[in-house]
Amino acid sequence: MRTRFAPSPTGYLHLGHAYSAMLAHDMADAAGGEFLLRIEDTDRARVRPEYEAAIHEDLRWLGLDWPEPVLRQSDHLDRYEAMLDRLAAMDLCYPCRCTRGDIRAALSAPQEGAGPDGPVYPGTCRARPMAERAPGDAIRLDMTRALARTGDVTRLTFRETGPQHAGLQRLDPDRLLSEVGDVVLARRDIGAAAYHLAVVTDDALQGITHVIRGTDLFEATFLHRLLQALLGLPTPLYHHHRLIRDEHGKRLAKRDDARAIRTYRDAGATPDDIRRMVGLV
Ligand code: GLU
Repeated sequence: MRTRFAPSPTGYLHLGHAYSAMLAHDMADAAGGEFLLRIEDTDRARVRPEYEAAIHEDLRWLGLDWPEPVLRQSDHLDRYEAMLDRLAAMDLCYPCRCTRGDIRAALSAPQEGAGPDGPVYPGTCRARPMAERAPGDAIRLDMTRALARTGDVTRLTFRETGPQHAGLQRLDPDRLLSEVGDVVLARRDIGAAAYHLAVVTDDALQGITHVIRGTDLFEATFLHRLLQALLGLPTPLYHHHRLIRDEHGKRLAKRDDARAIRTYRDAGATPDDIRRMVGLV
């Protein structure tokens, strides 16, 4: 068994991260397995080196350990580009120059259930060929073509062991079209891989057998399963855990410094106090 905690260094880790990391660590430990740390830092605009250093420091303070060296996604952008090239060679991608504002304007009515990346892309750039890719374009997955290429999508499944959705999960092509749609695979700002492509690449490359993460990523897993099928990557087991919420029931956010692990530490809390706070004792 090999698990991982894969934070993005875009803020200080909070209680929710502590829970996720400790749970993944404990589950690996209990099975005599291995726990990895991975730094998901492809969002160059939001990543800061002090946050990355703080991740190591906070997790060590919590009593976690992991093998070095730690994989940093920004060191392997060529790897994600190669995956993108494979999808492009299957004719499943197109360049997109829409801004968020363009997308909002093109959506006639606000959508109800937004997908894993927000509103489903209206398809404005879908007919553009990859040969037209210009600097500053994002690259999107053409979901219709991806589904056609996959054939009978309903035979694709993943095993979920988390408390909310435990059981075998089956992909539903209609939901992938209406709720996920043409997601971004590579960003417009720097051309780096977006989260979805990088995460499936590295989970496979690092031989992750159990992905343990928050239930906020449950919907994204259907997309990840599809990408695994298209790219011929193995599918790990998934465990989406509950989210840690504040006293108003709101899930914690990175800007919520009051709940940062280091704030508690500075106030004299111990790692065991943190475990108690998140219900892990
Ligand atoms: N890097 C992602 C985040 O910070 C989590 C990745 C994952 O667990 O799949 O939310």
